[in-house]
Amino acid sequence: MSETDTLRDNRDRGGPAQPLVLAQNLTKHFPIRSGLLNRQTATVHAVDGVSFAVHKGETLGIVGESGCGKSTTARLLIGLIELDDGTIVFDGDALGSAISLRDMRKSVQMVFQDSYASLNPRLTIEETIAFGPKVQGLADPLGRARDLLGKVGLDPNRFAHRYPHELSGGQRQRVNIARALAMSPRLVILDEAVSALDKSVEAQVLNLLCDLKDEFGLTYVFISHDLNVVRFISDRVLVMYLGEVVEVGPVEAIYGKQAHPYTASLFSAMPSMDPDNRTMEPPLSGDPPNPVNPPSGCRFHTRCRFAEDVCSGAKPALATFGNHPDHLAACHMHDPASGHSLAGAEASA
Ligand code: SF4
Repeated sequence: MSETDTLRDNRDRGGPAQPLVLAQNLTKHFPIRSGLLNRQTATVHAVDGVSFAVHKGETLGIVGESGCGKSTTARLLIGLIELDDGTIVFDGDALGSAISLRDMRKSVQMVFQDSYASLNPRLTIEETIAFGPKVQGLADPLGRARDLLGKVGLDPNRFAHRYPHELSGGQRQRVNIARALAMSPRLVILDEAVSALDKSVEAQVLNLLCDLKDEFGLTYVFISHDLNVVRFISDRVLVMYLGEVVEVGPVEAIYGKQAHPYTASLFSAMPSMDPDNRTMEPPLSGDPPNPVNPPSGCRFHTRCRFAEDVCSGAKPALATFGNHPDHLAACHMHDPASGHSLAGAEASA
């Protein structure tokens, strides 16, 4: 058994059925300050009561328009920004009581979109990857770095002593992935990690991520605005709108039939190579409302063509949609308790 396998087994205390991450009611508001006295004049509702689970070995895709809170959610998960409210349970251990942020961070790594800004220009590639293991006192950090360079498809004899500016964008992102793996993480958060790459390089890095996931038994949270890429790599998808979860479910269920009108509009703009694959759904119009003053009730009601009076008055809860018990959507028209029906609204639209 390899060192990685041993570490994984020792830490997988709750068994495969226990979610690796259970995020409950995550909330983050950013104050806006102005004036000479720097007084708080407004609040940005970046993430509001977001709850979800990340199961062991899965890839959870998070999608939504810019500013919907997906990157803030990722930063809350890894502790880069502090929670205002909510709890994070990591493999059964509540963050802050049963497990410290410092200990959890050893098991959670993040890869960012900007591959160049993520690397220290003064360190060689080998030193960059070895830095984390060295600080943590792990054995043979330079050997580990060279080994991981090989795993991400970069010949250690050619690349170990190069500097970040000597690499292409795709090679730098491979280095960032190797650096994340150097800490033997259990969860890797990929925040738009392939968005800045050319399509051919993007495909190579996506395949690499799939291979590494199998080899190291990793769990991914994959954040992207590219719905085709999310479909390729994800097992489940979580859709966010203006700081809230509006739909979540297995990738085949959501890509088969979107329950929430926002998801349907988002997916209608997805490019397709199939000329027969036409959507009747009108694309989203207008910009999302200002997160400083989000709409009441369902936050999507200002842009939703099915909105009724109930939508602005009460916040819809996540309710099961369709045949899959794990496919949930937050829309009054899918909540039997509301007495409304999206089918009826569609017929009259
Ligand atoms: Fe549209 Fe109302 Fe459903 Fe919100 S709750 S998505 S406004 S129909």
